[in-house]
Amino acid sequence: MRVRFAPSPTGTLHIGSARTALYNYLFARHHEGKFVLRIDDTDAARSRAALEESILADLHWLGLEWDEGPDVGGPFGPYRQSERAERQRAAADGLLASGQAYRCFCPEERLQDLRRRALAEGRTPRYDRRCLALSADEVRRRADAGEPAALRFRVPAGEVVVDDLIRGRVVIGAEALSDPIIVRSDGAPGYNFATVVDDRDMGITHVIRGDDHLTNTARQQLLFIALGGPVPSWAHHSMVLAPDGGKLSKRHGATSVAEFRDLGYLPAAIVNYLALLGWSHGEEEVLDLDRLVREFDLDGLSASPAVFDAAKLDWLDHERIMALAPDEHRRRFAERLPAGTPPQAAAALAAAAQPSLVRYGDAPALAAEVLAPPPPPDALRARALAAAAQLAHVRALRAAAPEWLTPAAARDLLAAYRAWGTARGCTARELLMPLRIALTSAEHGPELPFVLAALDRSSVLARLDLILTGPGESTPTPGDPS
Ligand code: GLU
Repeated sequence: MRVRFAPSPTGTLHIGSARTALYNYLFARHHEGKFVLRIDDTDAARSRAALEESILADLHWLGLEWDEGPDVGGPFGPYRQSERAERQRAAADGLLASGQAYRCFCPEERLQDLRRRALAEGRTPRYDRRCLALSADEVRRRADAGEPAALRFRVPAGEVVVDDLIRGRVVIGAEALSDPIIVRSDGAPGYNFATVVDDRDMGITHVIRGDDHLTNTARQQLLFIALGGPVPSWAHHSMVLAPDGGKLSKRHGATSVAEFRDLGYLPAAIVNYLALLGWSHGEEEVLDLDRLVREFDLDGLSASPAVFDAAKLDWLDHERIMALAPDEHRRRFAERLPAGTPPQAAAALAAAAQPSLVRYGDAPALAAEVLAPPPPPDALRARALAAAAQLAHVRALRAAAPEWLTPAAARDLLAAYRAWGTARGCTARELLMPLRIALTSAEHGPELPFVLAALDRSSVLARLDLILTGPGESTPTPGDPS
């Protein structure tokens, strides 16, 4: 089995296209077939080399490695559609010679006019076949005179029945199918035709893509037959819709793989999420790529639209983060923090965040709550100041300890503080809340041992002093090195 993912380098990799790539990948791996990457760059005006690069990078990042493609080559190259134009034109000449294609001299203005009129009358725009009616003599005369002409495929009469592995039997009425241009007047092959010739020449056995291509598929099936077949198996999965039922677009938030990467989602979570989107898989939902390869098949895919559920992606990402080894988690967390963040601080904050973190992109904001809090509002400051004796004591404890504390050492320090306070009749809350406010200017946040471990000694002392003596002063304490 040979499948292909065929993105156009006219935009970055959309999350819906990534899902198409994933389904092709899983299908190929599950059946031990080949996964081909072909760049469909027939739209020369809008195709960009930089976008092709970004699509490849995004696919690598997701871990969807291909067996053949523009970068790795393969026995069916080249893997850019534009580089295969000679074969596509030769195939078109074959159709012209056998009478299955014809020259169309209609200028663009006429075609636009036909389109406009059809739309105004509420009809699907279709080419009116004016040039099909030209006599052979006239065609020869005008062609010999060098008049520019496109080649159109002559769509046979009757409806087209597409046998789809996901949707069953799909009937596309002939009225939806205008005679497609297979080679434009400038010699450039059109998308539908180039795709058919390439799929045929590359031995593609299964075409798996979004159901927005169904009308193209009807045309392409006719073209496969006209070229002598065989017709590949078709599988059209549903589209990814926004929660409001519309197309998933910018106004719903992130839509490209790059944006999700920048937000700090793990590739494994995105792959897991996209696989589940429209694919039913029992109770268990946290699945890695190997498992997906083993269990995925097209018959589990739903034909109805899949609605993008950001909360579910968040949940899966969180599950993945919790399952990461602490070192790996610390590395991913730390690389998101501002340059110069002390490693001790990064490690403590990473450890504090792991049980609740949703995505790594949240790391800088979480870290800033501890490393760079705003000054406490007056009400909170007053509340902390009401516990000045407690704060002075914990300050002395901290002043006597090393520059950095591990979370375990911080826990010991807090235990000593609590023992001291309990002996004087203070509750845990009366001891810890003023300290939390002094250190973070807030009543909630990471557990205190992690806060203490994320701040060096002088920062802790400075924040306590800010409460105890106000800005610009400091309390001399025995053992305070400053
Ligand atoms: N280049 C087309 C797209 O990006 C490919 C469609 C196909 O799979 O044939 O939608």
